[in-house]
Amino acid sequence: MSRPRPPTAPLLLAVVPFVLAALAGAARAAEPAADGRPIVLVIHGGAGVIERSRMTSAKEASYRAGLAAALDAGFAVLERGGSSLDAVIAAVRIMEDDPQFNAGRGAVLDEDGFAVLDAAIMDGNGRAGAVASVRHVKNPIELARLVMDKSPHVLLVGQGAEEFALEQGVVLVPESYFVVPRRVQELAEAKRAAAERAKAPSVKGAGTVGAVALDRAGNLAAATSTGGLTNKHRGRVGDSPIVGAGTYASNESCAVSGTGEGEYYIRQVVAYDICAMVHYQHKTLAQAVHEEIHEKLQRSGGTGGVIAMDPSGNIATDFNTPGMFRAARDSRGRREIGMYAEIQ
Ligand code: ASP
Repeated sequence: MSRPRPPTAPLLLAVVPFVLAALAGAARAAEPAADGRPIVLVIHGGAGVIERSRMTSAKEASYRAGLAAALDAGFAVLERGGSSLDAVIAAVRIMEDDPQFNAGRGAVLDEDGFAVLDAAIMDGNGRAGAVASVRHVKNPIELARLVMDKSPHVLLVGQGAEEFALEQGVVLVPESYFVVPRRVQELAEAKRAAAERAKAPSVKGAGTVGAVALDRAGNLAAATSTGGLTNKHRGRVGDSPIVGAGTYASNESCAVSGTGEGEYYIRQVVAYDICAMVHYQHKTLAQAVHEEIHEKLQRSGGTGGVIAMDPSGNIATDFNTPGMFRAARDSRGRREIGMYAEIQ
């Protein structure tokens, strides 16, 4: 990774924003790959009610640090010539371990108070693996990769998925590993709100994590990992582990990872629909993502966002919620971290 060079003094005032970015660890133009192909990584840490007015500077800094750590770990894999699959896993694993996000440790809790986790991975050549409703797997995204690589199946759920984990030598952790006080409190609030309204349980959740990447070989990959929705019904599975709904990749169109109310993403097959618009209707990635989020999802009443990337390394990040935790980095020097409607 090339290091930022210090700016020249006379231009200091004019370049203050860039200086700040450099101090925060931003890269200036990382060298493009030797063959001129771009390498690109985009991550998200969930869409939802993420507003400046509700954020303290300490919280904002902490989310930024979490996103930066995941972004740089994934990008380092691409810089070393690693595959997009390895890059998205490296990024997602870090966010699964970070209790700020709704995946792995710190995931939201279901109606019984358990973290019940879903994850999927797919590469641009059409290989896919996923797990749903696992409760003892520290890094569900790694188990999804094992399903893809070491089984003839695409999706394993619950106890069967955990037995497969043991067969593969994955160490399981106790349920208590995942539970953090903030999520216990959120579950209590959701149950209270649902009881007061005496209607369907409140099912808010933000902080699902995902990544899409393009590697030097020109292969795309997408990965998503989540605890789903707070107070979700026992047995509920969201869109994240459903190929085409919350996660999709094809080297012929695009790679997508979604975050939002999964039921809408499943019904609309959101991730695949974006790639289908690119592939069959020859829309640009930005057009397809905009139409999916601001027209189709909006029309159906769904909320959320996606990150997406095409085989040329063009990216699109869009959402119809107040904010989405997201970050992008490429070999042409882009390094951005955003939370609210504008990238900042
Ligand atoms: N899409 C996830 C689910 O419905 C939740 C989220 O992204 O916030 O399981």
